[in-house]
Amino acid sequence: MLDLQERLSGRLGSKGWLSQADAVPYQRDWLDRFGVAPLGVARPADTQEVADVVKACRAAGVRIVPQGGNTGLCGGAVAHGQDTVILSLSRMTHIEPPEAESGSIRVGAGVVLSALHEVVERHGLIFPLHLGAEGSARIGGLIGTNAGGSQAFRYGLMQDLVLGLEVVLPDGEIWNGLRSVLKDNAGYQLRKLFAGSEGTLGVITRAVLRLFPAPRARVTALLALPSHEAAMAFGALVRREAAEFTSALEFFSDFGVSLALKHVAGLTFPLESRDAAYVLVELTAGSALVPLDDILASLLEQGMAQGLVSDGALAMSEAQRAHFWRLREEQPEGQRLEGQQVKNDICVPPGKIAAFIAAGGQICQEILPGARVNPFGHLADGNIHYNISPPEGGEMAADSIPALVQALASLATGMDGSFAAEHGLGRSKVALADNSRHSTERALMLALKQALDPAGIMNPGVVVASTWQRRTFQMPGIS
Ligand SMILES: Cc1cc2nc3c(=O)[nH]c(=O)nc-3n(C[C@H](O)[C@H](O)[C@H](O)COP(=O)(O)OP(=O)(O)OC[C@H]3O[C@@H](n4cnc5c(N)ncnc54)[C@H](O)[C@@H]3O)c2cc1C
Repeated sequence: MLDLQERLSGRLGSKGWLSQADAVPYQRDWLDRFGVAPLGVARPADTQEVADVVKACRAAGVRIVPQGGNTGLCGGAVAHGQDTVILSLSRMTHIEPPEAESGSIRVGAGVVLSALHEVVERHGLIFPLHLGAEGSARIGGLIGTNAGGSQAFRYGLMQDLVLGLEVVLPDGEIWNGLRSVLKDNAGYQLRKLFAGSEGTLGVITRAVLRLFPAPRARVTALLALPSHEAAMAFGALVRREAAEFTSALEFFSDFGVSLALKHVAGLTFPLESRDAAYVLVELTAGSALVPLDDILASLLEQGMAQGLVSDGALAMSEAQRAHFWRLREEQPEGQRLEGQQVKNDICVPPGKIAAFIAAGGQICQEILPGARVNPFGHLADGNIHYNISPPEGGEMAADSIPALVQALASLATGMDGSFAAEHGLGRSKVALADNSRHSTERALMLALKQALDPAGIMNPGVVVASTWQRRTFQMPGIS
């Protein structure tokens, strides 16, 4: 191991190789649940250096964990065993000028999402992926997890926003697939294979991303509603009436608002009255001639007339819009600061969100009486972050958690949905996936992993385990 460390230190220099003692900031995941001290952190400056690190680690039989912004929520970006090098892309932050006519841009995997937003917005363009961690999450990590976010229903997930990729494969070879076209059916869709591979099939080093013209009109409203059923009905109304102009439709609950207001400094509640649920709706158009104000006003009128909306406000300035968004985006942080929690990243067909929340609530009370559920997320694509805090002042018994998570996953899959909507599997959901997906699907994934990484050095234990251990969770009745 000393040989490897000397070799990497010699190849990468003092900026590019951090010994174990300097690796502390890279060691634990965002939720502080996973991560042991790695051998060290490699911070290559370019693709060739990445390839050299991969070859050196492979020769030494040392595992590699690619790391972007380390905001992943499933423990996939940190070391599990000490014979591991964390490969941080944080120095590969080059952004080439956007190609406005083609609607594309070539970037390094270490570019932080908000930095990309700033650059393209100066050119009258947008990169339409937005999420609460955009000030830290990096392009390689966003592709690695196939991130979704608040506009996924309109512009797609990260896999839909990637035109081309460059990847260092587990044997150190470089695959240059940096094409800049949407239509490229020359064989298997390799760029999509790496989206969502969570560092298990190779290291993404550069990407060509899709850009869109910046909207010329935008309106935003925050609404209070008496129930999640009302929120879903109002969401359906928006999708029907505002159709292609709908660009965000986020929902959250009053419990989540209480936690955010309690724990997040400087956050205030912007409406006159509280209610059980909230919806943040945003409409955008490429032409300033589209009367978005009128469309939104009509939606609010209809919502109030039908008893779906109890209070609401339109953002009259950019600061007010940011305030509304902050209330939504601080939902995870408020609950994290409240203490122990179980996070579930569920997706169901949008028409079944209210049914999931009702049935999920029953499951929680059966398994963990007094559980406080905080459902929030992306109403238009059915993605519910169904996060659970223990009863006030109480703790969740560790042995009740697998049963709870498995029952909620079964409820989602029983509704033709998913138990891993946009955060991936990482390390924390591999056993859940083994229990929840069909053996044929699992065998396909394992075959891919073994074909690309026969030595098993790329992020082992993430996404798919080499041995299948069916866990015997105690399953509660979930009729
Ligand atoms: C407050 C908050 C809000 C969030 N909201 C959302 C949301 O709305 N939607 C959503 O989808 N996610 C969300 N997330 C989760 C997280 O931000 C995303 O998963 C994001 O894509 C992770 O990017 P990262 O750069 O931090 O990746 P990391 O956490 O560093 O890595 C994530 C995974 O990708 C792999 N990886 C990293 N870089 C590379 C690379 N260059 N090549 C290959 N594999 C790589 C890692 O090994 C790991 O398995 C949120 C997280 C937080 C903390």
